[in-house]
Order: sequence, then C-alpha cells, then structure tokens
Amino acid sequence: MNKEKRTAVIAGNWKMNKTPSEAKALVSAIAERAAGKCGCEVVLCVPYVDIPAAVEAAAGTDVKIGAENVHFKESGAYTGEVSAAMLVECGVTHVIVGHSERRQYFGETDTTVNLRAKAGLAAGLTVIICVGEVLEQRQSGITSEVVSMQTKLALAGISAEELKKVIIAYEPVWAIGTGLTATPEQADEVCGIIRGVVAELYGDECAEALTIQYGGSMNDKNAAELLAKVNVDGGLIGGASLKPDAFGAIIDAAQ
Ligand code: PEP
Repeated sequence: MNKEKRTAVIAGNWKMNKTPSEAKALVSAIAERAAGKCGCEVVLCVPYVDIPAAVEAAAGTDVKIGAENVHFKESGAYTGEVSAAMLVECGVTHVIVGHSERRQYFGETDTTVNLRAKAGLAAGLTVIICVGEVLEQRQSGITSEVVSMQTKLALAGISAEELKKVIIAYEPVWAIGTGLTATPEQADEVCGIIRGVVAELYGDECAEALTIQYGGSMNDKNAAELLAKVNVDGGLIGGASLKPDAFGAIIDAAQ
C-alpha cells in the first residue's frame, strides 16, 4: 500500500457552531497551531455565514476553508440554498457532501449526494464525500455492503480525472458525536473496503492515490493510532475541531 503517496487531510466540521467573530478567532488559533506542519493538509469546514470571516482569518496561513454542504443547481428558485459558484467566489476550496446529519435530518439521499458532489467538482472544489453505516447495519453484519453501495452511488458519473479532487470520509454513524470510536482495525478495514470499490471502478492507481479519512469521535487521544493505519489518510473531525489544542494534537499525530 502506498500510504506515503497520498495526502493526509485533517478536516474539521464545525457543524452549527460559532458566529463569524468566534470563527475568526478559532481559525486564527488553529492556524497558529498548524503553522509549518506540512505532513498534512488542514481544512476547516464552517457554517456558510462564517465563510468570509474564516477565509479572511486563514489568508496567508496553511489552513484552507471548506463549506459543510452545497446545492446541486447553479442558481434559481431554491430558497435557503447555496451554489458551488457562490462558495468558490467566497474563497472556499473544499466542501463536505453527504454528512450523516444531512442524510438523517435533511432528507439527503445517495442521489442528491452524487448530484452535490458533481456540482462541487464542476466548480473546482475538492469534495469530501461522507459514507458510513448506522449501528443496526453494523450489528447485522452488512457494513461492507452499505458502505460499498453508498460509495458507488456517490461516485456515479464522476470521471477518473475528477476523482483526483475527491476525498472519501468513512464515518460510522454510531461513532459521530457519541464518544464511541471505531477501533483502528475497524476503521482500517472499512477504509480498505472503500479503496477496493474505487479500485474496481477506476483501477488500482486511482484507488492508491485516493485520500480516505476516518471520522467519528476522533480526538487528541485516539488520533495517532487511527491515523497510523495503512488505509486511513486523515480525519474528519467534529467536536474536537472546535478546540484548538485537541485539533492541534490531531494535526501533530498526522505528521
Ligand atoms: C463529524 O461531524 O463528521 C464528526 C466525525 O463528528 P465527531 O468528531 O464529533 O464525532
């Protein structure tokens, strides 16, 4: 496995936290912590209204700013939605699609995840596609089937060239915000399954180059073990990304 060839990406998902002024302070604190740590890319995905303040605070630092979602239409009568072009013009480089909270609370489906991913890629964004099983699916022994299907559907119609700007985040739903973390072995196994699906679809070279993150209660205590696994190329981090010291320790663990 060519883990060294892949870019480790440590991404924060702030969810619905922080006002613009708080965002400015938090981005600055994290940027200070991330300075000179070139062993991974650092991305902070923030609420839409925080984007201008976050982009301003991240200017000239090693931190990139992402959004937490994007709509799939270019423009039109979609009240409350934000397009990829709007994000790009604001200085956003990354966008999360298909987060389990969007799937669970906002009717996100594999089809809309795919459409959002394609819209982000068409605008030149790097897209972080989230997949992961719920607890009942893991307990029923169908994790591999669920995650493989979500991966295939999310990538439908995406070319090998576009795949270069795709990151997949394996996020077992039972581990998100619960304090329960997948073991390093579980995370590695499922990230490996995802890589296998990508190899089937695009070939070994593309699969070897793909960054696959683990997400689900990653923190300063468990990050090193998770990130050491051959198939785990970074983390998507919720709670701990709101704490500069904890997030900084995760960045250190990725060096
Ligand atoms: C997430 O929001 O993607 C996440 C993994 O959250 P947490 O780290 O809080 O479990």
